[in-house]
Amino acid sequence: MAGEKDGKEMTCRIRASVKGVVQGIGFRPFVYNLAKERNLVGHILNTSSGVNIEAEGRPEEISLFFQEIENNPLPLTMITQIEKTPVPPKQDRDFTIRKSISFSRKSALIPADISVCDKCLEEMTDSENRRYRYPFINCTHCGPRYTIIHDLPYDRPLTSMKVFRMCDDCLREYHDPGNRRFHAQPNACPACGPRLELRDRGGKLLETDDPVAKSIELLKKGHILAVKGLGGVHLAVDAENDRAVLAVRKRKGRDEKPFAVMSLNPSRIQKYAKMNQEEESLLLSAQRPIVILEKKVLNSLSSHIAPKNRSFGVMLPYTPLHYLFLQNDFLALVMTSGNLSEEPIIFRNDNAFERLGPVADYFLIHNRDIYCGCDDSIFRTIGSHPRIIRRARGFVPLPLILSRRFPSILACGAELKNTVCLTFEKNAFLSQHIGDLKNLESYRAFSFTIDHLKKLLDIEPEIVAHDLHPDYLSTRYALDEAKGEKAGIQHHHAHIVSCLTEHGLDGPVIGFAFDGAGYGTDGKTWGGEALLVNNHEFTRLAHLSYLPMPGGDAVIKEPWRMAISYLFQTFGEKLWDLKLPLLQTVEKKKIETIIQMIEKGVNCPETSSLGRLFDALSALLGVCLRVSYEGQAAIELEMIADGEEKGSYSFEWKKGKDSYVISPLPVISGVVDDILKGSSPPVISQKFHLTLIRLFSELGGQLKKEVGLDRIVLSGGVFQNATFLTGLEEALDQQGFSVFSQSKVPTNDGGISLGQAAIAASMANS
Ligand SMILES: [Zn+2]
Ligand SMILES: [Zn+2]
Ligand SMILES: [Zn+2]
Repeated sequence: MAGEKDGKEMTCRIRASVKGVVQGIGFRPFVYNLAKERNLVGHILNTSSGVNIEAEGRPEEISLFFQEIENNPLPLTMITQIEKTPVPPKQDRDFTIRKSISFSRKSALIPADISVCDKCLEEMTDSENRRYRYPFINCTHCGPRYTIIHDLPYDRPLTSMKVFRMCDDCLREYHDPGNRRFHAQPNACPACGPRLELRDRGGKLLETDDPVAKSIELLKKGHILAVKGLGGVHLAVDAENDRAVLAVRKRKGRDEKPFAVMSLNPSRIQKYAKMNQEEESLLLSAQRPIVILEKKVLNSLSSHIAPKNRSFGVMLPYTPLHYLFLQNDFLALVMTSGNLSEEPIIFRNDNAFERLGPVADYFLIHNRDIYCGCDDSIFRTIGSHPRIIRRARGFVPLPLILSRRFPSILACGAELKNTVCLTFEKNAFLSQHIGDLKNLESYRAFSFTIDHLKKLLDIEPEIVAHDLHPDYLSTRYALDEAKGEKAGIQHHHAHIVSCLTEHGLDGPVIGFAFDGAGYGTDGKTWGGEALLVNNHEFTRLAHLSYLPMPGGDAVIKEPWRMAISYLFQTFGEKLWDLKLPLLQTVEKKKIETIIQMIEKGVNCPETSSLGRLFDALSALLGVCLRVSYEGQAAIELEMIADGEEKGSYSFEWKKGKDSYVISPLPVISGVVDDILKGSSPPVISQKFHLTLIRLFSELGGQLKKEVGLDRIVLSGGVFQNATFLTGLEEALDQQGFSVFSQSKVPTNDGGISLGQAAIAASMANS
């Protein structure tokens, strides 16, 4: 280290380049204050790749200074890399914050959108404060980020705040390194910042001095309000008002999908739902996700919020506006995404009136634009682990840190619950939940998100990974629109590798990939697969036997078709002799048509999907014959299961040509016997779950002996079922397996893009 001789005090100077989420979250004032405390000179500045620090002073002070930076970062900082080099001392007079510079590469990470902080809330409720009741209050520790940025470096002119000129008071805060709003890009106040306005569905402005108070009045009268928030528009109604909740359902279509609700604080939530410590801290975290909580049997919320479901999706307020709304006597507000079924959340004002006009009575909107829509994230605690089901607001665009360097890859994801993934060095950037790519709006959001993330992250992918399904719009995009070398990845292989990557592991492992549907290498629809996975290679060890899906994709919406297919496979024409309620409920003619289709093989693609077996059971028990949202039949089947029941059904598997084939037909005949004997659906549902747990743990044990591996990976949408996942994990653990399942990345198709990227990276290295 350089220094000075001749009795003068030794000093040294270190130049450090810090990478990660270090901009727009108060990192520079934090470092500035640390330097002042330790009497260091030098400077700090934002660059396009992160933050550069030069610090000069006594060596002990310098080393403590960097320790503090590394050990005590701010709650929202994410340091991914820090490189230090000694340089000759310059004897600066002071420590300063210098003007940002740009480099050619933009690898600085953008923070996610975070909930309003306590200090801002305090100011907002202080009648003496100049931001009293100001719904856009924020600081470097809180507020919008990802959703308002359209390019890097993260500076106000490149955000949707560029149209608001800061007033003198705001500017003073913005330029004062000692202030909490120093370089807070969304800084604003009532004098200079964004404003709310309340309009009717025709777009006519409602004259009022206080749009929030007026909106509360409208909600109390039972009106439906569209409220523009951080990542998009919510539809809000009073959750205790049956008529209002039902009206949202009716106007959004005959949807039965549960609505999320929002309450002011945990003690209000406890009036209608149960929560443990873990769930409470998840709710209170700065990301403020929706957490799935068990309902209290006696609760005053409308029964139309989550029909046929034992849980509520609950969240706490995360914008200042939410607090203004809830700081009165609402127990809870329904806050459901403002969209039409399965389309992405609406986030532009014009679009809101056009598409939600038929649904909402009034619109509480504002003039701070959202560049990129971002839905609420969703968690469910299963087996004491919080598991992310939908990864979006609060988490995107933060990277998952990889265990090794990847080439630059774009992975286009699957079709349902689509996400995309971009990789660069040791970072994997999983996009927010985009949705079901079957509709045009989602496809637009998909291609917009790819372009947006490529720009923000400055990644030009060399490799484009995609699903094998030739008709997925994500595949077509990869093959027809995207530049780069193409890599087709099998769907269930991607599920398993998504989980491996989340845990920073490599193969070989045994993988159970259980879901609704994914294109198999034989062109059939897979979904009940035991695979041997060794990074970019896999072989099929076992699968459910193939069964016709009468009408192809129509079976997804109409689970009763799968029930008939299973019954016909098990009993043939004798099924007509069975006195099953299902055969009475569905028109005979329709059933005959289905059987003819199966017999003649017309429009009957074959599937090995476990998700479809759940569907068939649900229909057979009369729980759910037709679904209005994805996974409904399986969810409702799990919801009725009677935890006290211990019985199960028999099953069998046979060695096929190159893998084991599992026949669920003995399960079906056991279930039919029970129905005819008069067993209740809750008992049968539980026996069915226990059967699958036994079946797959025994299969796991057999495979373990044969392939000699003791690590097993579970992934796929079926593992969102808590009864099945916890039961199977426990049973496999008893077989001596180390069991891995997903928690930071969705186990459903929202995690596919990460698996695709990791497989493509491994292919490139081989
Ligand atoms: Zn704040
Ligand atoms: Zn101002
Ligand atoms: Zn899948």
